[in-house]
Amino acid sequence: MRQRGVAVLGSTGSIGTTALRVIARQSDRFRVVALTANSNAELLREQELEHKPAYVGLVDCSEEQSDDWRRGVECLVEAATRDDADIVLNAIVGAAGLDATLAALRAGKRVALANKESLVVAGELVAKAAAEGRGEIVPVDSEHSAILQCITGHDRAEVRRVILTASGGPFRGWSESRLATATVADALQHPTWTMGRKITIDSATLANKALEVIEAHFLFGLPYDRIEVVVHPQSVVHSFVEFVDGSVVAQLSVPSMELPVLYALTHPERAPDSGVPAFDPVALSPMTFEPVVHEKFPALRLGIGAGRQGGAAPAVFNAANEQAVSLFLDGVIHFGDIPASIESALNELGGLPSASREDLLDADSKARRHVRELFEC
Ligand code: NAD
Ligand code: MG
Repeated sequence: MRQRGVAVLGSTGSIGTTALRVIARQSDRFRVVALTANSNAELLREQELEHKPAYVGLVDCSEEQSDDWRRGVECLVEAATRDDADIVLNAIVGAAGLDATLAALRAGKRVALANKESLVVAGELVAKAAAEGRGEIVPVDSEHSAILQCITGHDRAEVRRVILTASGGPFRGWSESRLATATVADALQHPTWTMGRKITIDSATLANKALEVIEAHFLFGLPYDRIEVVVHPQSVVHSFVEFVDGSVVAQLSVPSMELPVLYALTHPERAPDSGVPAFDPVALSPMTFEPVVHEKFPALRLGIGAGRQGGAAPAVFNAANEQAVSLFLDGVIHFGDIPASIESALNELGGLPSASREDLLDADSKARRHVRELFEC
């Protein structure tokens, strides 16, 4: 079996380290050819020693180093376009992952995409880059992996509707007054998943689910009125697909990102693996479903509205959210200020031009500035 080369971008994060575990177990099929990280040089060094990639890049160039790593932001596109990379696993957090996604697709790679923000910021440009370069996107996000697993082998026209599941985050069931005083520590306590800090906060506001609805729209070519969300606190059913005959197919597993990471590498095939604990429907019972309480989590409605509006609005939604989450994590703003900042940025900037990457990045930086100015920082 020929080993396929994998470039892992964002290798020091939650998805990146998960991916390296999966690849190490699947070493007859895959090998790491490139690693990149933002600033965690120590972990990156350990990963280099273990996986021996041909290329290592670190975005942060603040320290003088005597290693042969590539330094600076250019390392992301370089790693994503290397000849020895068949697959680019983009596990960067935020809009910072966009250029690597575009470049990898233009270079004809399979992009195993965890970086959902790429699709939210520039869904149309990402689709164009894939078409031009004959690249392919395979989602790592568990909900989208579930949908892909359900529809593979079917014509897209046979899909009537998809229903994304949401755990509801740590604040499911909290009253509005309690939510107003939620702390950073409260918001970082996710009930079913251990993830990076930004996506953990996004799961608490449900902004993550809004990003995922937009992601599903672009990945599967579905209009927004055929993408729904249901709260499923156990995170065992990863999403549902309803077909045109009324049959509903779902994909289930114990919550673990190892499975969707592996599937993004092997799709449409499956590889024997031991990353997910055995499925026991009795032990996992009961599996319950509830409606989203939109009044308490306005970020979901705002994000879906931005998706429907199209143009620069999803990029503004994403950037305002990234900036607000960063201020919340720094203790500068309250939890409730996150959706309020997003709403203000969308009202002000949602209609900005969106024809090119430059337009979208301009909308991104204006939205960040808008949120900082709201709080005079
Ligand atoms: P994380 O914060 O744990 O890791 C982020 C990685 O990106 C790190 O390796 C970091 O070095 C790198 N990075 C950060 N800023 C960067 C920048 N400006 N330029 C280049 N590299 C940068 O995040 P995570 O939880 O692993 O999430 C990564 C992506 O995967 C996000 O888009 C997230 O929404 C998505 N995702 C994560 C999970 C999960 O379980 N963690 C599940 C589904 C989707
Ligand atoms: Mg998800």
